[in-house]
Amino acid sequence: MDFSFTEEQELFRKSVREFCDRKLAPRAREIDEKGEIPYDVLEDMAAFGLLGITISEKYGGRRADFTTAAIAAEEIARADISMAAAVYYLVEAGWGFLMERYATGKARDEILPGITAGKKFLGIASTEASGGSDVASISTRMEKRGGKLIVKGAKTFISGVREAARLGGGYVTIVKTNPELKHKGLSLCYIPIKDTSGITTSIFKQMGREGISTGVIIMDNVEVPEHYLIGEWNNGFYYALEGFNCARTLVAAACIGAAGKALESGIEHMKKRKVFNTQLAKFEGVQFQLAEDYIKLESAKMLVYKAAWMLDRMYAEGRFSHTEINRAVAMAKLNAPTAAFDIIKDVLTWYGAYGYTKEAGLERGLRGVASYIIGAEGAQNIMRLIIGRELLGKEFTPY
Ligand SMILES: Cc1cc2nc3c(=O)[nH]c(=O)nc-3n(C[C@H](O)[C@H](O)[C@H](O)COP(=O)(O)OP(=O)(O)OC[C@H]3O[C@@H](n4cnc5c(N)ncnc54)[C@H](O)[C@@H]3O)c2cc1C
Repeated sequence: MDFSFTEEQELFRKSVREFCDRKLAPRAREIDEKGEIPYDVLEDMAAFGLLGITISEKYGGRRADFTTAAIAAEEIARADISMAAAVYYLVEAGWGFLMERYATGKARDEILPGITAGKKFLGIASTEASGGSDVASISTRMEKRGGKLIVKGAKTFISGVREAARLGGGYVTIVKTNPELKHKGLSLCYIPIKDTSGITTSIFKQMGREGISTGVIIMDNVEVPEHYLIGEWNNGFYYALEGFNCARTLVAAACIGAAGKALESGIEHMKKRKVFNTQLAKFEGVQFQLAEDYIKLESAKMLVYKAAWMLDRMYAEGRFSHTEINRAVAMAKLNAPTAAFDIIKDVLTWYGAYGYTKEAGLERGLRGVASYIIGAEGAQNIMRLIIGRELLGKEFTPY
C-alpha cells in the first residue's frame, strides 16, 4: 500500500496551484459579486488544459485520469472557495468523459472540441420538478420521428443554464423513451441550448456559487439529430449512474479543496490573533476543534482519492465491481460536503466578527459547499441509500 502521489501528480498539482494562484484566486471575489466567471478566466483555464480535462487529446483535452482530475478539482476550489469555477470544471470533466465513452463519433467531433476550448459549456440535465432523487420517475419524453429525436419536458435546478445559453453548448439529458418502464425506459441524449428552437430557459436566484447559474430548461418538442442519442436506446440509466460516479468523485474533491484552503487560513489566523494577551492558537478549546477538523479533512481526502483511484483502476484494468465503485463514490460524496461545511463554519468562528464579513470571503465557501449538502449531483440521503443497498443487497431497496 502506498499513500503518496506520484512525482508526476505532485508536479501537476504544483503547476495547477501556481496557475490558480495567478489567474483564479485574484478573481474569486469578483466571480461571486458579479455572478459570473469572466470569460477571460475560462479562456485561461481552457488554455491551461483544465476544461474537459478527462477528454482525449484528439478533442483538445488531456485524457486525465480521475486522480489527476480530482487534484485539479481540489486546487480550483482552493482558489475559488465559492465553488463556482470548480462546478464549471467538474461537471464538464465528469459528463464530458461520459460523452466521449458513449456518444456517437459524429456528436463527439461536433461537441467535445468546443468544451475543451472553453467555447461551449457541457452539463447534466436530470432533475425535474417532481423530484431529483427518483431518477427512474423522469417524465421528459423522447421519441424518434422522421430521422430526428423529439424531446418534450422540463428540467429544473440545472447548473450552467445561463452559461450554455450564452456561450453555446448543452446537456447530457436524461429522458424517458419507454413510459411503461421505470429505469429501463430511460435514454440519454445531447441537447444543445443556444439557438435551439423549442427551448426556453430561466434562472434562479440562489444562495451561493453565484459565478455559475442554476436554472430551468423547458423543451417544447425540441428536435435534435438522431446522432445526439448517447449510447443505446433505453439503456440510459446505466450510463447516467456511471456519469454520476465520475462527477460525484470530483464534487467531493472540490469540497476538500475549499475546506483545506479555509483550514489553512484558520491556522494562520489563530497563530496571529491575540486574545487575553496570548495567541488564540494556544487555547485548547480551539486546538481541539482544529484537531477534529483536520481529521475530518484528512478522512474526507482518503475517501475522495480512494474513489478516484478505484475509478482509474476500473477504467484502466477492469478491476472492481459496480457495487464496490458505487459504494466508494457514495461515501466520498456523502462525507466531503458535510466535512467541508463543518470545517469552514469553524474557521469562520475563529475569525470572530471578521468571519461574518464578505471581506473575509469564508461565507462564500459555506454557501458553495452547502449546494452539495442539499443535493447537487445527488442528495445526501441518496448516497446513504446507495451505501445501504451496496452493503445489504438490492432486495433491501425500499422500492
Ligand atoms: C445548486 C444546485 C445545482 C444543481 N445542479 C443540477 C444539475 O446541473 N443537473 C441536475 O440534473 N440537477 C441539479 N441539481 C438538482 C439536484 O440533483 C437535486 O437537488 C437532487 O437530486 C435532489 O432532488 P430534489 O432537490 O428534487 O429533492 P428531493 O428528491 O425532493 O429530495 C428532498 C429530500 O428528501 C430526501 N430524500 C429523497 N428521497 C429519499 C429517500 N428515498 N429516503 C430518504 N430521504 C430521501 C433527500 O435527501 C432530500 O433531502 C442541482 C441542485 C442544486 C441545489
